[in-house]
Amino acid sequence: MEYKTIEDLGNLSGKVVMLRADLNVPMDENFHVTNNARIVRTVPTIKLLKSKGAKVVVVSHFGRPEGKGDMKNSLSHIVKDLEKALGLKVVFVDDCIGEKVETAIKALKDDEVLLLENLRFYNEEKKGDEKFAEELVKPVDVYVSDAFSTAHRAHASMVAAAKLRPAAMGLLMAEEVNALSKGLNDPKRPLMAIVGGSKVSTKLDLLNNLVKKVNKLVISGGMAHTFMKASGIDTVNENNSLVQMDMIETAKEIMKTAEANHCEIILPQDVVVAKEFKPMAEHKTVDLEHIPAEGWSLLDVGEKSIELINRKMDECKTLVWNGPLGVFEMKPFDNATNKVAEHAAELTSDNKLTTVAGGGDTVSALANAGVENKFTYISTAGGAFLEWMEGKELPGVVVLKK
Ligand code: AMP
Repeated sequence: MEYKTIEDLGNLSGKVVMLRADLNVPMDENFHVTNNARIVRTVPTIKLLKSKGAKVVVVSHFGRPEGKGDMKNSLSHIVKDLEKALGLKVVFVDDCIGEKVETAIKALKDDEVLLLENLRFYNEEKKGDEKFAEELVKPVDVYVSDAFSTAHRAHASMVAAAKLRPAAMGLLMAEEVNALSKGLNDPKRPLMAIVGGSKVSTKLDLLNNLVKKVNKLVISGGMAHTFMKASGIDTVNENNSLVQMDMIETAKEIMKTAEANHCEIILPQDVVVAKEFKPMAEHKTVDLEHIPAEGWSLLDVGEKSIELINRKMDECKTLVWNGPLGVFEMKPFDNATNKVAEHAAELTSDNKLTTVAGGGDTVSALANAGVENKFTYISTAGGAFLEWMEGKELPGVVVLKK
């Protein structure tokens, strides 16, 4: 591995290790954690560090605080959940820098873990301030990061702090980086990408990177309509679809780059049109020549498209996926997303396909399809996953290179 891992840190016995985690979990209005996945996924790294005799100090951001003392965004709300997941006592300090922290570290017992208050209570965190990073790491010997989901941000705790102490990736970050590398950096080919979602304009960097790297690119969802229009399918217009007229030229350029790079673009062959934008709306599947010009919206792709995508997928060894194929939040317009996801899951379980997915709505779309545990890897990192798919270097990962 080209990145530093905990093994590279040598003997940690008696050392104070700062673990930059992502404990930004969803919470209800009574401050109860509604999904503890991020907490649970941090546990193996904490346990590994503890087993090596380290004193562990956990730091994280949480929500969007408006400065210090914004109790709504205090990490104190997650103490109980972290204790439960770890099976260890968690000591909480209501600050992330200063004397209180130093005292608590000195008093920390072997069967305890220290959790510090929200890093973003200090504006310096987001600014990547080096002085703040110095304060942060002052009482610790070693730095470990597991916050892949924040790795696209050069925040103080993500980059500056890592430069000030011997630093490494935690198990979670290493797992994520490894899985993502198998998806795009060093994939088994042929490699297919599926990109769906609503608008082309939000996925330009993504598409421009993918056409240079993948062998087959499926474009679906609302954004496919701009590509359909650009390739001469005339009944798709702004009234019945998400066609972005100002993106037609860009779509044509992307298709040209794809051709130059021998990347096959796979567009919908048929679409599901609905009378209204609501669940169970009156709908029908039509071929491209029969898309109604008025009165219907294009909400999903049809069986011919599903069949084409699945047969092309059969020829591939790796799949990376971002964005639903249709309006998956409303039945039955989740049909194509579900069927393609099920097929990908089957190929994965037969060891024929490596499947990596992530970014924003993709996680919920694949959960809705019931495949969340059946892909090789589903990343819960939204922005960081997208930037990685866009081919960008993530500062919070780069800083941990060997
Ligand atoms: P994104 O955040 O860009 O990945 O977009 C995800 C959103 O795209 C989801 O909320 C889907 O409902 C939406 N979407 C997918 N296909 C369509 C479509 N044909 N028309 C409108 N919205 C769509």
